[in-house]
Amino acid sequence: MDLESWMTTKPVVSIIAPVYNEEPIIDELYRRLVAVLDTIGEPWELVMVNDGSTDRSVELMVALHARDPRVRVINFARNFGHQNAVTAGMDYARGDTVVIIDADLQDPPEVILQLLDKWREGYHVVYAVRSERKGETWFKKFTAKLFYRVIYRITDVNIPLDTGDFRLMDRQVVDAVKQMREHNRFIRGMTSWVGFRQTGVDYVRQERFAGETKYPLRKMMRFALDAITGFSYFPLQVMIYASLVLALIAVLAVPIVAFLRLAGASVFEGQATTLVVLLLLSSFQLFFFFIMGQYVARIYDETRQRPLYIVSKVWERPDALHAGGEAAAAPAANHAGGVTSPGQTAG
Ligand code: UDP
Ligand code: MG
Repeated sequence: MDLESWMTTKPVVSIIAPVYNEEPIIDELYRRLVAVLDTIGEPWELVMVNDGSTDRSVELMVALHARDPRVRVINFARNFGHQNAVTAGMDYARGDTVVIIDADLQDPPEVILQLLDKWREGYHVVYAVRSERKGETWFKKFTAKLFYRVIYRITDVNIPLDTGDFRLMDRQVVDAVKQMREHNRFIRGMTSWVGFRQTGVDYVRQERFAGETKYPLRKMMRFALDAITGFSYFPLQVMIYASLVLALIAVLAVPIVAFLRLAGASVFEGQATTLVVLLLLSSFQLFFFFIMGQYVARIYDETRQRPLYIVSKVWERPDALHAGGEAAAAPAANHAGGVTSPGQTAG
């Protein structure tokens, strides 16, 4: 498609790629994506969100934009985290469908064609299910498997197992998720929560094309806590069971100890027993304090109402149609005219 018609046509597909220090990957990502997207015969755009990279990622992305204005670059003022980068991508995307993809090519761009096929069949959300993971450590695979199963068990929304953010969303779903401005975001849960017709497509998660994971253990733990606190009260409710068990032990202990002492046995004497029990109970209590603290901290995050991210600069053709961004995406924003039902394409 020539440039002028690109400018005036709403893209059918917006690809969102969050980027944090992915310098060795950017050109290859663009090459692989273009190879796939140019086969669909519909207008598309690539929204790259630079999440405060400290390497040359942003220069490379801006160079892509200069060559191909279908690439739009959103530059954050600092690192706001993967989920906020994806959120910005959704705020800026203009397409009838939006596909979220990791920049590191662990999610093969070729799968996008299968996602689009399902969308044309009438599904509103098509998530990609990792049937196999290549090139990840034993520890990462194990913790990921465990994590998705725990989440599945304790949350009220049906978050499909073994899915990441790699998924396609219809415009209606994007507009719904855009209204959810919660701060500690678990986007794969949020896209399940909104409902609509959802389905999955299997794929093999590839090795990272280059570089290292940007999710160290610390970030993974935080992410897991966001997922649990965002979608479940289970950790708060489970405290009642601990409390009942301890009360029961206390009630039983009185007659048992009295009986043993009367029978002449020298049990539970001295400070050691008291100290051990005290330490054990304190550790229980502190653990539950920690859990409550996790919820309280998140309430605090909500009450401050800070923006989810700060954009320092956007590279896009000035005459390109605008979709907004944080300001325009405030809750209750009306996106009239932007709603296309699945299967309906502008081609
Ligand atoms: N990412 C980001 N901000 C961050 C961390 C990661 O935008 O603070 C991006 C990263 O560049 C990649 C995607 O999020 O495109 C997934 O990160 P990564 O591949 O490191 O995670 P993993 O696949 O190892 O779980
Ligand atoms: Mg990755």
